[in-house]
Amino acid sequence: MSDFPSGSLDVLQQVFGYDSFRGDQQAIIEHVHQGGDALVLMPTGGGKSLCYQIPALMRGGVGVVISPLIALMQNQVDALIELGVKAAFLNSTQDWREARDVEQAFLAGELDLLYVAPERLLTDRCLDLLSRGRVSLFAIDEAHCVSQWGHDFRPEYLQLSILAERWPQVPRIALTATATTETRREIAQRLRLTDARHFVSSFDRPNIRYRIIEKNEVRRQLLAFIQAEHMGDCGIVYCLSRARVEETAEFLCKNGIEALPYHAGLSAAVRAENQSRFLREEGLVMVATIAFGMGIDKPDVRFVAHIDLPKSVEGYYQETGRAGRDGQPATAWLAYGLQDVVQQRRMIDESPGEDVFRRRLSAQLDAMLGLCETVSCRRQRLLAYFDQSIGPCGNCDTCLEPPEAWDGTVAAQKILSAVYRLWRERGQRFGAGHLIDILRGKQTDRVQQYDHQSLSVFGVGADLSEQAWRGVLRQLLAQSLLAVDHEGYGTLALTDGSRAVLKGETTLMFRREPEKKARSRSGSKSGASRSRSADIVLPPEAQERFEALRAWRAEVARSHGVPAYVIFHDSTLREVALNCPESLEDLAQISGVGVRKREAYGEELLRCVRTV
Ligand code: ADP
Ligand code: ZN
Repeated sequence: MSDFPSGSLDVLQQVFGYDSFRGDQQAIIEHVHQGGDALVLMPTGGGKSLCYQIPALMRGGVGVVISPLIALMQNQVDALIELGVKAAFLNSTQDWREARDVEQAFLAGELDLLYVAPERLLTDRCLDLLSRGRVSLFAIDEAHCVSQWGHDFRPEYLQLSILAERWPQVPRIALTATATTETRREIAQRLRLTDARHFVSSFDRPNIRYRIIEKNEVRRQLLAFIQAEHMGDCGIVYCLSRARVEETAEFLCKNGIEALPYHAGLSAAVRAENQSRFLREEGLVMVATIAFGMGIDKPDVRFVAHIDLPKSVEGYYQETGRAGRDGQPATAWLAYGLQDVVQQRRMIDESPGEDVFRRRLSAQLDAMLGLCETVSCRRQRLLAYFDQSIGPCGNCDTCLEPPEAWDGTVAAQKILSAVYRLWRERGQRFGAGHLIDILRGKQTDRVQQYDHQSLSVFGVGADLSEQAWRGVLRQLLAQSLLAVDHEGYGTLALTDGSRAVLKGETTLMFRREPEKKARSRSGSKSGASRSRSADIVLPPEAQERFEALRAWRAEVARSHGVPAYVIFHDSTLREVALNCPESLEDLAQISGVGVRKREAYGEELLRCVRTV
């Protein structure tokens, strides 16, 4: 509006305090500024918010942001107010008086940005309100919520096409970090963004190091990972079930890592409290189901760990994208094993609904398994899923410690023929554990009970360890060369693909984990270099200044009731600590210090730096 500068770069520098645009930001902003519709696909942390905030400040009227994240609106608005932007929200957490005040401010043209939840927007009252004021643009955030196949589906999103009918002249910009071509098409169609220009960014997040390991004792593995690489860091641990969330949070706490649970079974109050602590405190670990995280803009999440296999690459990429939004090194860590494959295949088989739905789930799982079992660069695999290509990244486990690929054809034949014989000769089916016992020639009670030592395959696989066999089984399941029989409690059965392997018509190359190295990694240089990012880059005096600045920031944040990063990001404080600015002009050169923050905090910052 009138008190903001008119060029997009000026707004970026003066309001947000950043030097230059990233990627497509400027093109998107110019396009929307001129009244065009846009569909923006950018990875999490890519910088989507500026794409609608800046044109909203440049065009006359109020930018209306539609976001499903009621619990985060307060935060988003607080952060904008710190920047000197007049922002407000309308949602069900307000009483009628607060809502009325916001409505009046809107009508009086006193707002730059208004955040609304979709269900609120669709009420007659709200639509009427909007038509009485002046809307500069509509931003539809988390636009993938319109997709019925996705895990964030919100039925209200389907009705947002009403915006196109009622306000044909107001530009609309839809944004998401979910990137498959299919989802994009769905968004464009359902939101009636037929003439929108599509802006598809690179989905690469080079600062995130991807690692996928074989699961055995997962909680101990998780603990070892955090202790070795992320002690004192803030992180998110994703689990599939509520029970696992609870157990894991408790386990971490017992082992000296402050962790909080988050899942849909907790009361709204507890969830809100835990989320707010996660945003405000430093070094907390959130153990959560995928119900947590959408829209969380905490910049310094240093790791995202998955202790259960995610259901799709899309979901996985969004979840891991929550790490390292500040561009500093971060880790995405996933542990997965045989049991995950068995369990998820079964869940799919048992899920209600049409076949086409199950096939879709199955294809998504296959892609996820392909990523886990690949012997080539993880990032290449991930980006290929979004139809983007890069060279080997040098920052994933396969690039850093290439796994061996080994010819597992004979091993696979042994397992498959064991399954075949049990079924053909005796009409029996068994699960993974017993099959492995048979192959390894182990005399268990069950072996004796069924007289399985008399099978011709008994003991033919003594050359491989139990773990190795689990790996083979897992990879066969991953490639659908073996199936889980859901009616038989996880027993295994042959598939159409099995025959070619049994006949020797295909060669199977499997991934072998660099086992020993994985264990000793905690003591290795690469591990050490990734311990607390805040401690690494600064020389001692600067570090001291940084700590003082952080202490000052903690106080300001507390008195304003906002998370510390809303005042300044770590990266900004680090730059201040390193460059020792002596004047307000010096401060203006530092990324993340805009006009408003310089006025509000400049003198205090300078004093803080001088006195250390
Ligand atoms: P997204 O919504 O795409 O996940 P955000 O809009 O939250 O990402 O931006 C991620 C982070 O990057 C934020 O901390 C934001 O302030 C910062 N950022 C965005 N654009 C720029 C830029 N041009 N220069 C510097 N930092 C930026
Ligand atoms: Zn790689």
